[in-house]
Amino acid sequence: MQNTLIKDDIQNIYRDNLIDITSKVPKRQPIVFCDFDGTVTTTDVTDVLLEELALPQWKVIEEQWVNGEIDDCQCMSEQIALIQGDWKRITGVLDQIKIDPYFKDFVAQCRSHNVPLYIGSSGIDRVLKYILDREYIQVDGIWSYHLIESNNGWALEFPKDKERGICQIAHSIACKCTLLEPAKVSKITDKNAYKIVIGDSKSDFCWSNKADFVFAKKKLAQYCGAKDIDHLSFDNFLDINSILANKGIFS
Ligand SMILES: [Zn+2]
Repeated sequence: MQNTLIKDDIQNIYRDNLIDITSKVPKRQPIVFCDFDGTVTTTDVTDVLLEELALPQWKVIEEQWVNGEIDDCQCMSEQIALIQGDWKRITGVLDQIKIDPYFKDFVAQCRSHNVPLYIGSSGIDRVLKYILDREYIQVDGIWSYHLIESNNGWALEFPKDKERGICQIAHSIACKCTLLEPAKVSKITDKNAYKIVIGDSKSDFCWSNKADFVFAKKKLAQYCGAKDIDHLSFDNFLDINSILANKGIFS
């Protein structure tokens, strides 16, 4: 009994704390921009592919990127070229990748409440599409890097021109926050849309600065806390579903 009371009290406090956030959604069209690796999937898919299929040199390149010696595009280009094996071998690894068990329900909630859902990922387009298709998940758009197969092996092509996005914060030659800009990559024309970003890692830092609200875990939660960015921490999409129901977006 005591436990139940404590639990109810905590939920009430939690709900009361959401009032501030709810008040910031005055009839604006919510749009969700969601990271993929480590957010939709339970692991970083590119890292798993490199661990399983790449020549060991990929770790040296990773170290250079961590030390700021190369940007993320150069890092990924060089790492992807080290992957050994054909697409069938890659899908053999992808078949082991799991997604957040509540993500499909989240997608269904977005659909039934007319909330557009975009995926922004510093990952590989063909990999994302393979996993989303496997799970019968459809989204409104994807921004990611393009995988190219040739006789020489695997290569990446990065978004160009208006799809590229250049962000001072990211120090990168391509970043996903271009998705947030009306009518650039997405079909969004509503300049007053309420932008919700969901993510977990460094590649989400820059677009979290431009969001109206952020759901964050891991490094992104630390970053948002340090930068005083409006956010809530989450463990999985069950948390997000219940918070968005409380905010009146999924209800
Ligand atoms: Zn950016």
